[in-house]
Amino acid sequence: MICAINQVGEILVITDMALPVDHKANIIDGKVIAQTIRSEIASEVSNLVEKYGKAPGLAVVIVGNRKDSQSYVNMKRKACAEVGIKSIDIDLPEEVPQAELIAKVHELNADPNVHGILVQLPLPKHINEEKVLTEISIEKDVDGFHPLNIGKLAMKGRDPLFLPCTPKGCIELLKRSGITIKGKRAVVVGRSNIVGLPVSLLLLKEDATVTVVHSRTADPENIICEADIVIAAAGQAMMIKGSWIKPGAAVIDVGTNAVDDCSRKSGYRLVGDVDFVEACKVAGCITPVPGGVGPMTVAMLLKNTLDGAKRVIATL
Ligand code: NDP
Repeated sequence: MICAINQVGEILVITDMALPVDHKANIIDGKVIAQTIRSEIASEVSNLVEKYGKAPGLAVVIVGNRKDSQSYVNMKRKACAEVGIKSIDIDLPEEVPQAELIAKVHELNADPNVHGILVQLPLPKHINEEKVLTEISIEKDVDGFHPLNIGKLAMKGRDPLFLPCTPKGCIELLKRSGITIKGKRAVVVGRSNIVGLPVSLLLLKEDATVTVVHSRTADPENIICEADIVIAAAGQAMMIKGSWIKPGAAVIDVGTNAVDDCSRKSGYRLVGDVDFVEACKVAGCITPVPGGVGPMTVAMLLKNTLDGAKRVIATL
């Protein structure tokens, strides 16, 4: 029997289903799945170049010199090169005026060699991120953050041009791991514009019955324990305990949290929002952190760029 204790001290019976003592969840290897997707993209890019003599182009814009942003941008640029996508590198100084950044976005919107535009976040404080992101043409919005793309995602019968990369990566992990979404109870932990909200909309589009848990939700364990699919995106290290997981559930852990670890040279290690060791004893399958959702986010960015390019190049 698996039980949890809620915030008022009541014991909740999550399931009386017995699990074999040696039960171990299948690990969903995001690195391997992402690599497969990258190979598929590389072959499609090479077909495009052969047929139309044109490669997809992704403009990667970075403002300032934050170390974490620079490393993400370098990773994305390298990933482009590996699959044959042309990366157009725009590096702007920290103090660039907002109007100048927006003018750059407009220039990229008009450039026929650019099929996707990515503005690395966060932007410096003097720049209004929302204003800048809204200026990106929805045909080139490969991050999928434009309100029109998100709005279409939320509406029945409408198709956004691009889906946000991390949520799209979560769904792709489920599908490529053979997990049925239709008719299942899914719980998303987190409701941010970048992950929680769009992933819940995507699950709905896939015909799951979706509940969203957030920081004001009472008794989250009581809700999470009913989920066949859990998508954790709260940014709270190991908040989801093994006892909160329904036996056999699929767990996609988006959370990426640094916790102190003096045994590491860096002094820290990355953990997810789910207590991985505990959850492995209960879940049917689970993504590790790192090596789960992270590699998929970059693969989906490449896929979005390819799809954006195909819409333009294939009609030339
Ligand atoms: P945000 O901080 O923007 O949002 C966090 C969400 O979680 C909010 O909706 C918040 O609720 C909710 N939340 C916070 N604490 C709790 C809690 N105790 N119980 C339930 N819900 C809670 O984060 P992001 O969405 O941007 O990112 C989430 C995590 O995913 C982070 O760890 C981030 O690093 C990681 N991430 C990983 C990516 C990858 O590629 N692997 C990509 C993007 C993010 P409320 O709205 O009420 O404040």
